[in-house]
Amino acid sequence: MRVLIVEDDFVGSRLMKKFLEAECFCHLAFDGREAIEAFETALLEEKPYDLMFLDIMMPEVNGIDVLKAVRDLEEQRGIAPDKGVKVIMTTAMNDADVIMEAFNARCDGYVVKPIRKEQIFEEIRNLGLLHPESP
Ligand SMILES: [Mg+2]
Repeated sequence: MRVLIVEDDFVGSRLMKKFLEAECFCHLAFDGREAIEAFETALLEEKPYDLMFLDIMMPEVNGIDVLKAVRDLEEQRGIAPDKGVKVIMTTAMNDADVIMEAFNARCDGYVVKPIRKEQIFEEIRNLGLLHPESP
């Protein structure tokens, strides 16, 4: 499984990678612009990501705007909504309005920081992306 981890906090990013790298092939993006670029490049190379962890709070281009850009790019390329990348938002704030906005922009789930390994694997399993026996 190909995963793009989008997180502007270096320590947080390393932690996510550490949790995921045994099960997934991980790329990192450290801001919103990089994330959109990485996503688009993967599409052009026909090696799309299966899953994206997307931080909401980032300078300049925030996670919600990245999500909107990702869904636009998929639509432009004729990718059906159910065939698009699965997107799990990561957020420090348990803010109902922001989470609602993310679901309106078609995210697939969210996790509240601090990130725990069990929590992210539960989300991944909920999306049917991992064998139920995986960690
Ligand atoms: Mg952040």
